[in-house]
Amino acid sequence: MPMVWDKYKASLLEEKSKLEKELSLIARKNPEHPGEWEVKAPDMNPMVSDQSELADMFEELEIQTGLEVQLEERLKHVTGALKRIEENSYGKCSVCGKNIEEKRLDANPFAETCIKHMEAYI
Ligand SMILES: [Zn+2]
Repeated sequence: MPMVWDKYKASLLEEKSKLEKELSLIARKNPEHPGEWEVKAPDMNPMVSDQSELADMFEELEIQTGLEVQLEERLKHVTGALKRIEENSYGKCSVCGKNIEEKRLDANPFAETCIKHMEAYI
């Protein structure tokens, strides 16, 4: 493994634990699908009959679900990049197969494409 990847690995691991921490606040690990998360439902109080309060709860659930999807998506990119480091395929563009520019990886350590192909993906 080229030495330069060590710094990306370190920031990827840092990002991974940060994302998992954020996810654990709003979601829990899906026991049936390892690596998948599901959003925690807010505490639904069956005694609540106030329509606006119910609407607030559903709105909160919707916001949390949106956030959870974003975080989980990002976490998948991070773990994917860590896997590519292990498999020695890190730093290659998934479109053209060329080495990804270092400045691109500096800005986004889990980039999967070179600068030329970045619009195609992340
Ligand atoms: Zn490319």
